[in-house]
Order: sequence, then structure tokens, then C-alpha cells
Amino acid sequence: MQWETVIGLEIHTQLATNSKIFSGSPTAFGAEPNTQANLVDLAMPGVLPALNRRAVEFAVRFGRAIEAHVAERSVFERKNYFYPDLPKGYQISQAELPIVGRGHVEIVMDDGEVKTVGVTRAHLEEDAGKSLHEDFHGMTGIDLNRAGTPLLEIVSEPDMRSAKEAVAYARKIHQIVTYIGISDGNMQEGSFRCDANVSVRPKGQEELGTRTELKNINSFRFLERAINYEIERQIDLIEDGGRVVQETRLYDANKDETRSMRSKEEANDYRYFPDPDLLPVVIDQAFMDAVTADMPELPDVRRARFQAQYDLSPVDANILTATRATADYFEAVAEVSGDARIAANWVMGELAAALNKEGRDIEQSPVDAQALAGLLVRIRDNTISGKIAKQVFEAMWSGEGTADEVIEAKGLKQITDTGAIEALVDEVIAANPQQVDNYRNAEPEKRPKMIGFFVGQIMKKSQGKANPQQVNALLREKLGE
Ligand code: ADP
Ligand code: MG
Repeated sequence: MQWETVIGLEIHTQLATNSKIFSGSPTAFGAEPNTQANLVDLAMPGVLPALNRRAVEFAVRFGRAIEAHVAERSVFERKNYFYPDLPKGYQISQAELPIVGRGHVEIVMDDGEVKTVGVTRAHLEEDAGKSLHEDFHGMTGIDLNRAGTPLLEIVSEPDMRSAKEAVAYARKIHQIVTYIGISDGNMQEGSFRCDANVSVRPKGQEELGTRTELKNINSFRFLERAINYEIERQIDLIEDGGRVVQETRLYDANKDETRSMRSKEEANDYRYFPDPDLLPVVIDQAFMDAVTADMPELPDVRRARFQAQYDLSPVDANILTATRATADYFEAVAEVSGDARIAANWVMGELAAALNKEGRDIEQSPVDAQALAGLLVRIRDNTISGKIAKQVFEAMWSGEGTADEVIEAKGLKQITDTGAIEALVDEVIAANPQQVDNYRNAEPEKRPKMIGFFVGQIMKKSQGKANPQQVNALLREKLGE
């Protein structure tokens, strides 16, 4: 039997507002427990929520980015359930009338195949608090700092057919929300959380199979692994004569498996109803226009622009726009150094390798864009060769100063003085009469290769500092061509 996998994702992305969605408390990560929860977040009697305008702007921005229908009127509802980290006894969310309706994104697979994935909806809601189990013996601590943090829940159509496609889609959404500046996308801190709905069906069957929902996935790598584990589990189960039950399963990264958390039968009836404390959200044309005018450049648009403006290949443009931080970095280096080609080579080459080695993101690079551009300027004006530049880069990386400071301190300036180079050329020619003879008697087309021997000797003598173009020119002149 051939099986087909069907996947739909629910992504909760934390919006990068300074304050909460219905209160003025700050949203900063990592504060002492319960220092960022005010009366509204604590659900004291008599308090009223006031909607954060910025959160609405961000949701609309996302709607524009995925070419979705943005609702002129959306409604907040109460989702009722009991849990210690939810003092109100309900979460304010949107159900019937979400702010963002049907949209779509394009994903590109490794083999270049382009696929469109539908986004069903995206709605605004508040986050709950957090239960703390460590550090408490026989008790659970409750931290309400996160209560009321604005979230945008983005629900996809069941359009993905493999774990790889699901990851490509999640990465695309991550790229969009970070590019348009509505979320920091930090997965470790929980600012971007993916729940995966997975089912299988016999190939060719129209009707969808019974799905399970996988939770507790905090990286793209785990997303792929959790889905693949679940696909196998479901197929094995069905082939052994069993059936999949609709349930929520928790992914355990340590064991690389999913296990049952709660079945649909045990699931809550949330008794949604419109929140009487909040008015419907009405978005008029002026609001839409203002958001559109403020819209940052989208990743796909930037990629196309990089190709055209900097004459980059599609592959290079894709790498250099993978994250907004990378694109910003590259673009700054290209502008300041005045050479996009060298900038691209260094950002994708030396810099990427160094970052990779230390497992750092480009935001944490010890060599910033200005500093790297400073180094590339010195290659361009022939102060140093490309080879010496790698040595300078290493020193800059370990904090030894700017390119100019390192070049100066280590005496790495390229030798461009013709007299000095000529002396070196003469020395090497005089020391190697046999090679000179061989060269002169060789076929002209063999000579370019043979000249490498002399260049090597001279570069060695100059500790790599002689200008290679000048060395070549002088050698050719002296050896007689
Ligand atoms: P709920 O409200 O119970 O979470 P939804 O109908 O809103 O259910 O679906 C949630 C997610 O599950 C969506 O991303 C949707 O695409 C996906 N989904 C629905 N049915 C299936 C299925 N049979 N297999 C895989 N994914 C599914
Ligand atoms: Mg769900």
C-alpha cells in the first residue's frame, strides 16, 4: 500500500509590541517572575482590557504580506477553560471572525520545485502564563509575565505532503514575520511555536485521514523529526490493523518520539462567545493605507532586487536574503565597500564559515558590516591581497581591531614599490638558473603554468606581501616573453 502524508500547521508567533495586547505591561523576555503582570493580566475584578493598536497593525501587515483578505470587522471572543496559568478562566482570542482571512505563500523545495501553500486564517489572541515545575517541591509556581502577550496564530490549509514541505512552509512564515518586523521569531524563547497536524491516507484517496496534532516543537529540525516519526507511527498502526485516534501528542526531543497528551474526547468544549468587554475591530481604508505605506520590503521582492541590482545569481540572492539580518548585513557591506561581488563572496564565504564554526547568527558576528567593508576596501585599493585579507579577517574576528589597525600592527601592507619587487624578482631568478632555462625553452602555452614556481618563491620571500599582479608582470618581462 502506498501512503500519502497530509500536514497542516498552526503557528503561534509572538508580536514584537512593547506592551501587552490588552494591558500596558511590558512584554520583555526574561524578567523576574510576576514583575510584568498588572491588574489586567492578573484578572482582578472590575478591570477592563484595552486593545493595543500596534498589535492590530502587525496583524494587518501580515495579512498584506500573504496577500490575504483583511477583515473590515473582526471580533474577539472568550475561549473558556480552566488552568492555573490562566487567571481569568478564559483566553481572549478570535474564532468566527478572524482579522486575517484566506491567503497564501510560495515555498521553494531543494530541487527548485515551487509550491503554493494556502493560509486559512490568522487571528489575534493573548498568550497564557507559565507553570514552573522546577525549583518547587511538591508545588507548581505560576509566572504571569507572559499572560496577555500578543500572539498571531497562523493556520495553514492541509497542503503539505511531507515533513520537508512543512519545514519549508514554517521557514517561509518565519522569514516573512521577521522581515516585516512583526516578530523577533526567536524559537528558543517561544516567540515562534509550531504545532503540526499530521495524517496519512492511501495514495489516490480524496478523503483526509484522521489527524493527530503534535505540540512542543521548538526548532525546525525537531519539526521535521517529529513529523517523520509520527508518519511512521501512523502507517505502522494502520498496517497492523489499528486506527489512528484524533488526539494531541507531545514531541519528546530527547527520545525523538511523540506520545499521547489528550484525546479529542477529553478535549474541552471552549464555549466561545464574543467578549462583551471589547468592541469589534473595525479597519477602515485609511488604516489599511497607513499599514501598506509602512510595509517593509518582502523577502521575495528583496531577492529579486538583489539579483538585478547586484548582479547576483538566483542561488546567491537566495542565500543572501535567507534572513533579514543577512540581507541587511550584505547590503551594508556592498554599499560601504562599493563592490557587491566581493561583498557577496565574503559574506557567503569567510564570514559564513566563521559564524558556522562557532554556531553564531550573523547578528552576533564579532565583525560587523562596517568592519568587514573596511577590510574589503583594503583589498580593492591594493593595500593587501585577498590571501592576506583572510589573515586580517581572523585577527579582526578575535578582536584585534579594525582592518587598518591589524594591517598596521602586523605589518601586512602589500609591497607595491616596484623597486622592492624588482629586487625580489632578480634574487629569485638568480637563485634558480635551471628553472629559468626550462622556462625559456618551454612551449609558450606551457609557460603560464611554469611561472607559478617563480611567483611562489617571491611570495614566500615577501611573506605573501608582494603585489601578485606586479610580480607576474615583472617576471614575464625579465624572463623574456
Ligand atoms: P482545530 O480547530 O481543531 O485545531 P482546524 O480545522 O482548525 O482544527 O485545523 C487545524 C489544522 O489542522 C489546520 O492547519 C488544518 O490544515 C489541519 N488539518 C485539518 N485536518 C487535517 C488532516 N486530516 N490532516 C492533516 N492536517 C489537517
Ligand atoms: Mg488546533
